[in-house]
Amino acid sequence: MKVKLILPSLTEAKTAFWRPIKYSLFPPLGLATLAAYLDDTDEIDLQDQHVETLNLNDQPDLVIIQVYITNAKRAYNIAQHYRNKGVFVALGGLHVTSLPDEAEAFADTIFIGPGEQTFPIFLKDYRNKRTKRRYVSSMGRTIQDQPPIRRDLIKREKYLVPNSLVISRGCPHHCDFCYKDSFFKGGKSFYTQRVDEILTEIDRLKGKHLYFIDDHLLGNPRLSRELFEGMKGMNRVFQGAATVKSILEGDLIEKAAQAGLRSLFVGFETFSPDNLRQSNKNQNLKQDYERAVKRLHELGIMINGSFVFGLDYDDRDVFKRTVDWGVENAITTATYHILTPYPGTRLYSNLEREGRIMSRDWDLYDTRHVVYKSKSLSEKELEDGYNWAYEEFYTWSNVLKASLSHEQVEHQLKHLFYTGGWKKMEPLWNVIINAGGLKRMLPLLELLLSKVEYKREAQLSVAKLNSDLRKSSEMIAQ
Ligand code: SF4
Repeated sequence: MKVKLILPSLTEAKTAFWRPIKYSLFPPLGLATLAAYLDDTDEIDLQDQHVETLNLNDQPDLVIIQVYITNAKRAYNIAQHYRNKGVFVALGGLHVTSLPDEAEAFADTIFIGPGEQTFPIFLKDYRNKRTKRRYVSSMGRTIQDQPPIRRDLIKREKYLVPNSLVISRGCPHHCDFCYKDSFFKGGKSFYTQRVDEILTEIDRLKGKHLYFIDDHLLGNPRLSRELFEGMKGMNRVFQGAATVKSILEGDLIEKAAQAGLRSLFVGFETFSPDNLRQSNKNQNLKQDYERAVKRLHELGIMINGSFVFGLDYDDRDVFKRTVDWGVENAITTATYHILTPYPGTRLYSNLEREGRIMSRDWDLYDTRHVVYKSKSLSEKELEDGYNWAYEEFYTWSNVLKASLSHEQVEHQLKHLFYTGGWKKMEPLWNVIINAGGLKRMLPLLELLLSKVEYKREAQLSVAKLNSDLRKSSEMIAQ
């Protein structure tokens, strides 16, 4: 059987927001995971439109497309193209789960929820020519004892971070704006692999660098602790995501740093307790953000802070406050979002009930556009403020100021190169990608993520240097 697995590119691919490097980071792990359930005799073609031009002139037996909200239109067009040729098309993913009725119109079969249990059942039905219109994941979810991901189908050289892995599904929390609860409706919403399986998977990955793309790497403290213990001596450096609370509780974050954690995505989202309460992001309530940042810095862990604008208790100053806080606290990179009510979430239902959804053009649901009526800010204020925040945080003077806030020169340089490299070198990245040179950049990333010891005495010796550098940065800023 000939099977084609497709990840259509997100809508940004044809807009001014398109940044090739941002979309050349992670391979399509979800599709490679599903491919593991196919037979050895099946002919499989996995294509990711973010990094290659899709070949649509073929005639596979079965096409499987992964649908996110901002690639939905593109996914439906591709589905239509293949169905017109008589090919069986199956759709799955977050958007299909949120709006199954919409997706079903473009497919022979749809998958609702995670695919690990439903996909093998579908395959059996497909081979027996008795497929159903819908396969709904509910009970019995697990990612333990699964066949190994078909990493051989991934074009490693096209990604900056080919060694991405996921050791869990979901997250233990329930934020109102998050897709998670609707995607996992009807069954478990947080479950993990076993430590021995994770270590085996890590062993399969060449090189030093790993990126855990789990929603919450420290979500199951017992598992994380055993994992970090098992990773000691593996000589790996890794990145991941976790909550403020998990950074502050106990010593798990120290264990992570000892195992090689060098950069962490942290969902700060908002400083307002009212906003947190209203969004059901209770895990951030009463947490000391500054203390979490300090702790990460002391462990040599860089921070990608995530922030949301447009929550009901935001005011016009929220943009400046958020940027200033990020710079003053030396956040390495910041990811800003305009609040986006994804269909299927509690936020969407609430806003719909209040008559505040302004657009159902899914292409605009990219966290850069305002698609709902904010309570305290106009659409223009919100979009302008969001754009201003990005520009302001990444001005050279602010990058320099944040870098120089670190006490050690090594940290300052790492911060400067990491942030500068990520946000200020776009033309260079484009040249590298076009020349097929991404694979040569991985050692550089590994170098940037290498360990810097936190030495108290070193702080004193560089204090004077810091003060001189700060003066220079202030002169640049003027
Ligand atoms: S902590 Fe993150 S992943 Fe978990 S529910 Fe909240 S937003 Fe979603």
